[in-house]
This record gives sequence, structure tokens and C-alpha cells, in this order.
Amino acid sequence: MSDHIEQLTAFAKTKDFFIGIDSDGCAFDTMEPKHKACFYPMTVEHWDLAGVAKYARDVWDFVNLYGQTRGCNRFLALLGTFDHLDVWDEVAERGFRSPPVEPLRQWVEQETKLGNPALEAKVAETNDPVLTRALGWSRAINEQVARTVHDVPPFPHVRECLERVAGRADVMVVSATPNEALEREWAEHDIARYTSMICGQEMGKKSEHLRYGAGGKYDADKVLMIGDAPGDMKAAKANDALFYPIMPGDEDASWQRFGAEAAERFFAGDYAGDYEQQLIDAFMAHLPAEPPWKR
Ligand SMILES: [Mg+2]
Repeated sequence: MSDHIEQLTAFAKTKDFFIGIDSDGCAFDTMEPKHKACFYPMTVEHWDLAGVAKYARDVWDFVNLYGQTRGCNRFLALLGTFDHLDVWDEVAERGFRSPPVEPLRQWVEQETKLGNPALEAKVAETNDPVLTRALGWSRAINEQVARTVHDVPPFPHVRECLERVAGRADVMVVSATPNEALEREWAEHDIARYTSMICGQEMGKKSEHLRYGAGGKYDADKVLMIGDAPGDMKAAKANDALFYPIMPGDEDASWQRFGAEAAERFFAGDYAGDYEQQLIDAFMAHLPAEPPWKR
């Protein structure tokens, strides 16, 4: 058994209820600064996208912020960005073709811990130039995030919501962000104390956090995932868990509603069904599947 699965399996149930909470864009308003001031500039620099920067920025924002892949892992986001650029006529007219990344495509298919430690091990093993480049890019992002993204508080009402649920549910941070950044951000604002475990990308995929952290330990209707992206919802549904969406752009009201209404419904066993479905429908209607340049 992999280390991360062992650690997740060892997560001890202390309450009848379990709540998984995504971090970026869900608990913290960090999506815009991370992507616009860190991920996107580092992507232009490390993958030589200056000649198509305007298009690359629209693609990066769609893939990571405003479309249905919002919140996906960075390596998947990079590959998705190249896929979009390669079928955009104006980009082709500028003579751009995305760089060869086949070894990275193979790696993301084989690996579930899509973070720097696993990539470092793969680079050490293969010395592959594409993977080496991807690792340099990913490290540069982490450094830029550490330099740039600080003093970003949790969204309004998050702290009160955590206080409200912490005595009644085991709370786990379920995130695709590096653990180092998560530990720093949750501790910086003194909300790590409401959580039992903080799981980032080195601990596997979000669906693994839920499967091994909560699976088989709690009744299905007592496991809830709170997230701001369809990927969070998929991770929840793959594990028969309930999902509460934080609407991108409407986060304050989403957390307010959670504290005032949804949390109590969850604890009362009155969350599944029409109530959850209405929230999910509104959430999905909010995030387009098609990029704006194709509409
Ligand atoms: Mg998120």
C-alpha cells in the first residue's frame, strides 16, 4: 500500500459526521491571485508562450477559473491549455504549436499523486527533458505563490461555519494544492485548528482523500464535501458523498447559506435529494463547458 493511502486509511473517526473542504477558491479567495499573478506568468515564461500570450491567458483562465475544469490539478491544466491552444485558428496563424509533452501525458495517466515529489522521483529515474521542464515550471509556481499569495483571509463566514461544524463533524481539508501551501494558509489564519487532517496533492487525488479518509467509516449520508469546482463534486459523487457548492463569484452568500441553513440540514439528515440537487443545478449552470472564444 502506498504511503499516502496508509496515512489516509489511518485517519481516525471521532464524530458521526465527516466534512471535506476544498481550499483554493472554496475556503480562501486565492484563485485569482494564484492563477493571474503566479501560474499564468510562470507558464508563459517556462513554456515559451509570449508570442501567443493573449490567447494563452484566456485559455488558462477558462481552464482554471471560469470553466468546468476550474480547480483541476496544475499538470492537467497545463496539458488542457496546450490542447485548447492547438485548435485555436488565431493561434495557429501565429505559427504556434504547443511544445512536445508526451512524457508528461504518460506521467499524468500513470500517477495519482500529481505533485512535485512524485515528479522529482520520475525525473531522477528517467532524466526526461520534458518532465524536467515540467518540474522546473511547477517549482517556479510554488516559489511565486510563496512570494506573492499571503494575507489572503478566508472568505467571509468561513470561520463561523468551521466553528459551527467542528464539534460535530470530523473536518478534512481535501485539496489539489501542495501541502506546504495549505499548512501555511490554514495556520496563518488560525483555522487549521478546526481540521483533523490537511490533505494536498502529495496525498493523492481528492477522490482518494475521501475514499480512504472517510470511506467505510461513516454512513454515506453523513459525508459531505464542500467545494467550488465540478471536480470537487465528482470526487464526492465517486464516493457516494453529498456535495455543497461554493458558487464562484458568489462565495460569501454560499458560505452564509451553509452556516444558516445547509449545515443544519446535513446534520438533520435532510440534505440529500431536492435540496442538494437544486444547489448542484445552479452551480453547474454557473460554469460553462464551452470556452467563450468558441461561442
Ligand atoms: Mg477549489
